[in-house]
Amino acid sequence: MPAFPLPPGSTIGVLGGGQLGRMLVLAAARLGFRTAVMTPEDDSGAAQVATRAIQAPYDDAAALAALAGLADVVTFEFENVPADVVASLEALGATVAPNARSLAVAQDRVDEKTFLNACRAPTVAFAVCETAGEVLAALDQLGAPALLKTRRQGYDGKGQTWVESHADAADAFARVGDQPSILEAGADFVRELSVIAARGRDGDITTYPLGENHHEAGILRRTLAPARLPPQVEQRAQVIAARILTSLDYVGVMGVELFELADGRLLVNEIAPRVHNSGHWTLDGCEVDQFEQHVRAIAGWPLGPVTPLAQVEMENLIGDDIDRWPELIGEDDARLWLYGKAEARPGRKMGHVNRLRPLERS
Ligand code: AMP
Repeated sequence: MPAFPLPPGSTIGVLGGGQLGRMLVLAAARLGFRTAVMTPEDDSGAAQVATRAIQAPYDDAAALAALAGLADVVTFEFENVPADVVASLEALGATVAPNARSLAVAQDRVDEKTFLNACRAPTVAFAVCETAGEVLAALDQLGAPALLKTRRQGYDGKGQTWVESHADAADAFARVGDQPSILEAGADFVRELSVIAARGRDGDITTYPLGENHHEAGILRRTLAPARLPPQVEQRAQVIAARILTSLDYVGVMGVELFELADGRLLVNEIAPRVHNSGHWTLDGCEVDQFEQHVRAIAGWPLGPVTPLAQVEMENLIGDDIDRWPELIGEDDARLWLYGKAEARPGRKMGHVNRLRPLERS
């Protein structure tokens, strides 16, 4: 275990080479850290700006040993890092944050919801489904329509399908690939919100103002933040986030996705044990953004102020949207973040723009 706080000049290792890794590396560099990115990708957005890049599959033993040798602390930018990769790094003496338990809980939708309910973070009702017959039985309990999701490896709306009726149960199970799944009661939400929270090594917790999220084709399109909310709803979200982070003995930033119900109750949809797309507004809208906050937390530095400075509309630039850069860069009050990806495939997040307005004071 290195001595915390890590002094400037220490090296932060990052598993994953995408945009979240890129923005983490940029934040780390600003605070005087070196960075080492490990990713199988060639010319990844994160590797382009890191001090060192190790290009190798995540299970490459020599590469993991090199990363463990270089890094004073290792973090990750996506939650599907294989659990044994974290175990190997720890066996090599590396300190990994957030911890392996947080990663494991977030990787399995059943474990995640079971954990959330145990720490009094409410979710929709759900049932475990290993077979089409179990989907049918669960429908009796949860009602139709209900949402069938694979237990593992789902993201951006992939690996899930609505089960419209009992007659649809077998087809639905086939649509998610006949694999271990979870059936979730349909949430009758009025809005999707998220709270980005951070916990430091000393147990201190900060939560950013909530964001209101809008999706298109299962992908986050826009976040409006700070969301206009009654103070008690904001407070409820903070309490939920704090319960989750404390129960996991979490260190770092976490994204908690929420459903807001008509009566103001909040249900947790899922947790992401990492910096989160719906927190990109903080880059230009808050005193200390989520990337710097994550770096501070894992390095054992004090967490920074999360005070909002502006009203932000964050728009993701997906696929060909990137071609709009000449027009976007000319917009007043718009801040453009591009991820260094060479190829604009459909559905690929290429960048985002934060449009700023004066803060609405309630
Ligand atoms: P997820 O992959 O779990 O983030 O789900 C993707 C999207 O599906 C969410 O952002 C919601 O819009 C919708 N969704 C997920 N779970 C439910 C649910 N239980 N009830 C209604 N909508 C849901």
